[in-house]
Amino acid sequence: MPVPKIVFFDTKPYDREFFESENSNFGFNIKYVDTRLAPDTISEVKGFNVLCIFVNDVITKEMISPLKDYGVELVALRCAGYNNIDLRSIFDNIHTVRVPAYSPYAVAEYAVMLMLALNRKIHKACTRIRDNNFTLDGLLGFDLHGKTAGIIGTGKIGRVAAKILKGFGMEVLLYDVKPDNEFAEKMGIRYVSLDEVYSKSDVISLHCPLTPKTHHMLNESSFLKMKNGVMVINTGRGALIDAKALIIALKDGKIGYAGLDVYEEESEYFFEDFSSSFISDDTLARLMTFPNVIITSHQAFFTKEALKNIANTTLSNIKDYFSGKYLANEICYKCERKECLKKQKQRCF
Ligand code: NAD
Repeated sequence: MPVPKIVFFDTKPYDREFFESENSNFGFNIKYVDTRLAPDTISEVKGFNVLCIFVNDVITKEMISPLKDYGVELVALRCAGYNNIDLRSIFDNIHTVRVPAYSPYAVAEYAVMLMLALNRKIHKACTRIRDNNFTLDGLLGFDLHGKTAGIIGTGKIGRVAAKILKGFGMEVLLYDVKPDNEFAEKMGIRYVSLDEVYSKSDVISLHCPLTPKTHHMLNESSFLKMKNGVMVINTGRGALIDAKALIIALKDGKIGYAGLDVYEEESEYFFEDFSSSFISDDTLARLMTFPNVIITSHQAFFTKEALKNIANTTLSNIKDYFSGKYLANEICYKCERKECLKKQKQRCF
């Protein structure tokens, strides 16, 4: 078997810890770099045939030919979403694999945590208590029980979120371009139109991928269709929401709460320490000023179980490639894996 020479971009100490632990079962030679993959850092892949990247590393159309010239034959994404690569261009050139599922619980539980924290104002209560202020004024919440939750995207994560919220006694409305009617029937909940999710929900949680169709799906006109004071949760991808329109909707009270684990221009800031610097992104800076907005740095996936699974699946994907096995986790541009799965162990292309 040819030897994989692997370079990991955009790594943090926790990535190294979990990958090194799992790598004891694989024995690969891995170089970890802190650098983010971008057009100006691409030369760092020289000498490696496997490139492992994360959510904010980008592969544009223009980068594919240089990557091939440098000898990259496999791109291994250590994440589920792949909106950061130009899939159409890479598809016929370099095999690209991902980790389609590692812990839907990590992300769904996090989305629900954002709902609870925003509703009961835990972020404010914590700072208040640290200031020896034990009052309750301004911390009034509402029972989630009996309220309506709208789940947009009912794949692995959305279905777990729906189950948890149903357990709270909420009415759960589902929307997906490909409804899972069996799931809805089993749960005793229903699929409705997107407009019905918007108009009836007290809480809306986004769990669909970022695609050209879902880009800015929450925008000025969708906000207008929602209840006044609605809570919006985004653990999907930042650009599902038009952040500038969100600021306007927060200012006029249309949106009552926003829980954002992702932000459309997050790549410059998220995962990095700017505590001795400043934020030059005025949209992000403005969003950070709202007391009814909680922003976190793309951390919904960040559980021990998820990191272990990510490491194991990524290394297994690399092993499969170099052993000439069928790449079960290859991202298929042509059929989105529908035909590949039907053909069992064969690519549709
Ligand atoms: P999944 O593929 O299992 O489910 C996605 C669902 O979205 C599918 O059912 C699909 O039919 C649906 N969908 C596609 N286009 C849609 C549209 N236009 N409107 C409504 N639904 C649509 O994916 P998943 O594992 O549940 O993950 C969902 C998303 O969560 C990922 O794409 C990723 O962007 C994001 N994610 C975020 C984190 C984080 O740490 N914040 C971690 C993992 C995944």
